[in-house]
Amino acid sequence: MPANLLNGLTDYHTHTPLCHHAEGWPIDYARAAMERGLAELGFADHSPMPAALEPFDDWRMALADLPRYFDAVDAARAAFPQLPIRLGLEVDYIAGHEAWIEELAGMADWDFLIGSVHYIAPGWDVDNPAHLSRFEAQPVEEIWQLYFTAYERCIRSRLFDFVGHPDLPKKFGYRPEGDLRRFYEPVIAALAETGTAFEINTAGLRKPAGECYPVLEFLKLAREAGVGLLINSDAHAPQEVGAGFEVGLALAKEAGFRGVVRFEGRKGRAVKIL
Ligand SMILES: [Zn+2]
Ligand SMILES: [Zn+2]
Repeated sequence: MPANLLNGLTDYHTHTPLCHHAEGWPIDYARAAMERGLAELGFADHSPMPAALEPFDDWRMALADLPRYFDAVDAARAAFPQLPIRLGLEVDYIAGHEAWIEELAGMADWDFLIGSVHYIAPGWDVDNPAHLSRFEAQPVEEIWQLYFTAYERCIRSRLFDFVGHPDLPKKFGYRPEGDLRRFYEPVIAALAETGTAFEINTAGLRKPAGECYPVLEFLKLAREAGVGLLINSDAHAPQEVGAGFEVGLALAKEAGFRGVVRFEGRKGRAVKIL
């Protein structure tokens, strides 16, 4: 797509090889962001767990690698001084980890912290293909309920600037029957009450779900509630920076959004883009 269509947009949800399942260093993502005409780039690699719990799983940064993360982001900033590069983390919200998340929040001058729910039960990261068979073994209704209950709790913790991929459990294409607003409404009320923003995450386009997270209906309800929005790629490789943004932008527009939120030093600022 022509670079000018992305003018004013930022991509704050990108990863690095430090999480062991992404490729390309921040400097490579920054080059891609410049080429695509993004206004800002942000990094949000998967958050480390307390040393005593390591290794927690095989898809996150080690606590000892945090300095390498900061160095890599600084190197990208030095190479592309004309591009504002924000420092963030995609933090796993797990009930009981709140004190650890507060500790993480004090470890750097973060521009933003994303709250994401991947774990819906101990040892069960709902987006991990290793657990795909569980969608056949248990009612999808129950799986979504587990996820959205944790997601609402994540938002109400007030630990995060925005939350990631709202309807993640649809990743493999499993959706409960009927009107799904019963899942969305409590979450949107929590977003509005806590002043937390959320993202359109275009990675869903590259997954069996075949659509962005979240669905249009969620977006419309969030718009009506006055919740702030970001559009992010969840890039795990430099070529995914800004990927699917034309689809995300069209969805945002259809839902009635006229702007997005940018973050610096954990302070949000609304920017008109549409
Ligand atoms: Zn990842
Ligand atoms: Zn995630």
